[in-house]
Amino acid sequence: MIPFELARPRSLKEAIALLDPEDPDIRPVGGGTAVMLMMKAGVLRPTRLVSLRDVEPEYAQVRPGANGELVIGGLTRLATLEHSPLVKEGWPLLARTLRTLSNVRVRNVATIGGNLGHADPHMDMPPVLSALGARVTISGPNGERTVPVEQLCTGYYETVLARDELISRVTVPPQAGRPAAYMKVTTRAAHDWPALGIAVVLDMQGAAIGRASVIVGAATDRPTRLTEAETLLRGASPDDAILRDAGEAGAAQLDIVGDAHGSASYKKQLLKVYLGRAVRTALDAASARGAQLKGHAE
Ligand SMILES: Cc1cc2nc3c(=O)[nH]c(=O)nc-3n(C[C@H](O)[C@H](O)[C@H](O)COP(=O)(O)OP(=O)(O)OC[C@H]3O[C@@H](n4cnc5c(N)ncnc54)[C@H](O)[C@@H]3O)c2cc1C
Repeated sequence: MIPFELARPRSLKEAIALLDPEDPDIRPVGGGTAVMLMMKAGVLRPTRLVSLRDVEPEYAQVRPGANGELVIGGLTRLATLEHSPLVKEGWPLLARTLRTLSNVRVRNVATIGGNLGHADPHMDMPPVLSALGARVTISGPNGERTVPVEQLCTGYYETVLARDELISRVTVPPQAGRPAAYMKVTTRAAHDWPALGIAVVLDMQGAAIGRASVIVGAATDRPTRLTEAETLLRGASPDDAILRDAGEAGAAQLDIVGDAHGSASYKKQLLKVYLGRAVRTALDAASARGAQLKGHAE
């Protein structure tokens, strides 16, 4: 291994100052689970790693924000998020998704900032956070800016982040009891990398779908909103015919790319089938939760 400097700044500001907008060989490290694999594979040969482990503890915390939002510090470990009572109570979609994101060893060290900053299109969290309408706060030498998670990734392992910017917070609007599901389709164990991931969040109007937010991952070079399927679902009763049509529309919208987890045609078929299953799973989960809450109240 080529020697490199490991910097351990005590504040986010100091960390940002140690990055260089011009130098791709200087990189921030959250949990290091992706960085270490890239270094072992020889695709990353850093001259300096800026560890974010010792910056202010507030960046590693989960807390309620204004207007019922959830605020997740950029250095929050995935396991902290998974076990947060606040998340379990208000954002069950996040808690459920995290349980099949890799394994407990990875979740114990990986951070939400590293998860989003890595921009691997197979990641489970970006489609889910995008469907929920989450935003990232990006901190850099000139202050902060906010970007929807949906607009963070620009391609394979590419983001809108400058080399001297860090994800310092993720803000998630309330799930507010909305039916929501993430279908992670794997070809091996349930916690493996997805061959396809579909996140669905529904605003209901009585028994009909008022508005649907549908994002697919692991199909193209970045998580993508399935606008055609969303249009079909708007105002519809979620019966078999409409769900089949929505799946077909989603598959037709995308130029799907095959990879080690499945060919393009296999992923296309998965999308056709699993979009409808995601909607049904979301509705089932919401009615089960409603029944549970009613049971507690009685
Ligand atoms: C065995 C294994 C299985 C996995 N399976 C899955 C899976 O099923 N689903 C899934 O979604 N993921 C999976 N992953 C990926 C895992 O989720 C990521 O490796 C992890 O989330 C990255 O977080 P980290 O904090 O370790 O990032 P790091 O490795 O520290 O960093 C990753 C990238 O983000 C940058 N970065 C780090 N922190 C920040 C920040 N605050 N702001 C901006 N940029 C930053 C780094 O410079 C680097 O480019 C798996 C990983 C492993 C090792």
